[in-house]
Amino acid sequence: MTFVDPQEPPAYLRKREPSERGDQTYPPLPEALVVPVYDNHTHLEVADGDDPIDYHEHLDRASAVGVRGVVQVGTDLETSRWSAEQAAREPRMLAAVAIHPNDAPEYDAAGGLEAALAEIAELATWPRVRAVGETGLDFYRTGDDGRAAQYRSFEAHIEIAKENGIALQIHDRDAHTEVIETLKRVGAPERTVFHCFSGDAELAEICTENGWYMSFAGNVTFKNAGNLREALEVAPRALLLVETDAPYLTPMPYRGRPNAPYLIPHTLRAMAAHLGTDVSMLAAQISSNTELVYGRWEDDPVQAS
Ligand SMILES: [Zn+2]
Repeated sequence: MTFVDPQEPPAYLRKREPSERGDQTYPPLPEALVVPVYDNHTHLEVADGDDPIDYHEHLDRASAVGVRGVVQVGTDLETSRWSAEQAAREPRMLAAVAIHPNDAPEYDAAGGLEAALAEIAELATWPRVRAVGETGLDFYRTGDDGRAAQYRSFEAHIEIAKENGIALQIHDRDAHTEVIETLKRVGAPERTVFHCFSGDAELAEICTENGWYMSFAGNVTFKNAGNLREALEVAPRALLLVETDAPYLTPMPYRGRPNAPYLIPHTLRAMAAHLGTDVSMLAAQISSNTELVYGRWEDDPVQAS
């Protein structure tokens, strides 16, 4: 395996084009959390905003406000490799690897889906790769013609997670019923996470019955997201996680500006306020849940570079 020279500034693999203009600078640092949490789903390979910051700076800012570590998530071969390589030498980062459900049909059309899945299976054996994801079904962006590939890819990812005894991060967009059906038919891994939970109280109850984790992102703070807050109310605390999905879904009051792991405190505080619970108690619970799902960040120490 080859590693990028850690002295080199990271070349961004992607650039996010904001859907609306307006202020595209990073928001200020929030007040630090007293009890730290983790961001269990972020994409730091994406350059965001008018003044992108590199991933070391992202992690430094996160540490400064009590976000002690992140799960860096790949969505194709290039970003999955990058995620695994960075996590192998960065103590504050673990990695998740996968071909995204919207990318699977493209790999398949080019005749490369099986080879890509084989490489994901190889990356999943690396000690600091602690999840397979994001994978799942997306009927919003993928039409009928891509669904067979999407299912095949999702099922293969479920198997890879089980073979390696690591977590599964689900991307579910407009496909709740089919995602649940697939998980039950194939057999869900012991630790299964609905990333950027997008369901209502009913889906939260199904997750609860099955012991599946629900990871809430910045959109739980949005005014029109009453259904997410209802789901949050019924979800057992032991199944709650928090994430940014940065650079997307920046929490209030900074919706529309670049997102980053250091903005998690806004989401966490909004969750605690909605639940009428103490922020530190919720943080302690979520931290312990996160370590149960992904293992400890300190384990499998980074390779000397
Ligand atoms: Zn994501």
